[in-house]
Amino acid sequence: MNTVRVTRLDGTMTDVSRPEIEAMRARFAGRMILPGDAGYDAARRVWNGMHDRRPALIASCGGEEDVVAAVRFAAEHQLLTALKGGAHSVAGYSTVEGGLLIDLSAMNNIDVDPAKRTAVVGAGATWGALDRATQAFGLMAPGGEVSLTGVAGLTLGGGMGFARRALGLSCDSLESARIVTADGKARTASPEENSDLFWALQGGGGNFGVVTSFTFRLHTLGPNVFGLSVAYPLEIAEKVLTAWRDFAESAPREVSLNCNIWSVPEVDAFPDELHRAPFIMIEGIYAGEPEVGGQVLDPLRRIAEPLWDESGVTTYLAAQSAFDELLPDGKRYYWKSHFLNEMGDEATSKIVDWANRRINPATLIVLRHLGGAIADVPEDATAFGNRSAAYNVSIDNGWDSREDDEANIAWSRECWTDLKQVSANGVYLNFNADDGTRLLGAGAQANVERLRGVKSRYDGGNLFRLNANVEPATAQSVSSR
Ligand SMILES: Cc1cc2nc3c(=O)[nH]c(=O)nc-3n(C[C@H](O)[C@H](O)[C@H](O)COP(=O)(O)OP(=O)(O)OC[C@H]3O[C@@H](n4cnc5c(N)ncnc54)[C@H](O)[C@@H]3O)c2cc1C
Repeated sequence: MNTVRVTRLDGTMTDVSRPEIEAMRARFAGRMILPGDAGYDAARRVWNGMHDRRPALIASCGGEEDVVAAVRFAAEHQLLTALKGGAHSVAGYSTVEGGLLIDLSAMNNIDVDPAKRTAVVGAGATWGALDRATQAFGLMAPGGEVSLTGVAGLTLGGGMGFARRALGLSCDSLESARIVTADGKARTASPEENSDLFWALQGGGGNFGVVTSFTFRLHTLGPNVFGLSVAYPLEIAEKVLTAWRDFAESAPREVSLNCNIWSVPEVDAFPDELHRAPFIMIEGIYAGEPEVGGQVLDPLRRIAEPLWDESGVTTYLAAQSAFDELLPDGKRYYWKSHFLNEMGDEATSKIVDWANRRINPATLIVLRHLGGAIADVPEDATAFGNRSAAYNVSIDNGWDSREDDEANIAWSRECWTDLKQVSANGVYLNFNADDGTRLLGAGAQANVERLRGVKSRYDGGNLFRLNANVEPATAQSVSSR
């Protein structure tokens, strides 16, 4: 066959000629990968094993010129196109059945300027790589809590990490980005240039083009931090949760605590006798002097007799990767979340009730305390919604076998629907396994109308639709700009 069948945006199929693909290949710095080529399976693999899809073409880009070529190719043939950074999309947006996958993972250069305190980060970099590069100078950009996640997807959706109340979301430390929009033009987005686009990139997800690099403002933290990691039996969850909440409410900004409800994973890191034991754990870091952190966080280690307490001075790098092994890629995952304005007694008892009714011990419920620097930024200053929320609750379900899909998804949805009663009617789109479009439409994200205007200007044909999709307000041609 001298053609390759590829899915189009409208779901129909088109035949792309092989000579055309070969011509692209010849001028590509990266690789054009087709099914059967070496590296195809590795390039299409994503974290969530629920989304085992087979793209018809993978453009593994080596630089901005490649991205321009890939976007033009996608637009010209109207191809259903997915974008992959760190491949950790919970909803499986970074792969596509039969379409074009633009894979940024090879574009992972990181250039730290310690004098200017900035880092220019390729769109394929992971947070672990960025943390290692910045920590070499005692600096950091606020990322997430698992080092294997990608800088791209996490930042574009907001980005909540262990220093969020002190330093804000990941997108709040963004100074500028390079992006290839649907018309195939490479642009800079910053407060000075294409400021509407820059605003949208701070929380609006992958809707507006293919980001090729991010420039972050860096902060001083580490190499040592005080890390809190203390676990109590689930039987006293109500007591621990209440103590955590009461502490959080008056905590300084250096403290951004999570409260996790889980069962001990059956991995070597835990003694056999603890495997599957349900627990509630308070964890986080103190984003300041470790000695001060040890004193400030001490009361949380004395709520009751702990199951274990691994708190102490650690490195920022270790704290950032402590969870890496526990949410491995290839398992089947389904996550959903709510923002909460308060953690009242009704919320805590509902959460504990659902924790006790988990049908799968591997279901992790994560409560995050927010506020501080996140809430300092006005709601309309960036696309990220729900800045005034005080908490987020995330129901992170994961299991191994396809046969368990239905029961686990149903349980998660039931739990999420019930918790809606105590929520602020908002979800974090980066922790969402369902169709994000519906959630945007349901008012989950503030600023939706403004996002739709930016989408119209830069992607009126909705080429970039495999995401929590912002539908264009009006179909406009991007090339008219
Ligand atoms: C194990 C795990 C831990 C997590 N921990 C946290 C956490 O602590 N804090 C937090 O805030 N979130 C967290 N998340 C959620 C995380 O923010 C999202 O899953 C995010 O999308 C991951 O980014 P990625 O680049 O790895 O994903 P990808 O799957 O590569 O991309 C996700 C989406 O981002 C967009 N995108 C990716 N690259 C580009 C690009 N170059 N240009 C334009 N759009 C692009 C696309 O829409 C793409 O579909 C976690 C997720 C997982 C799976």
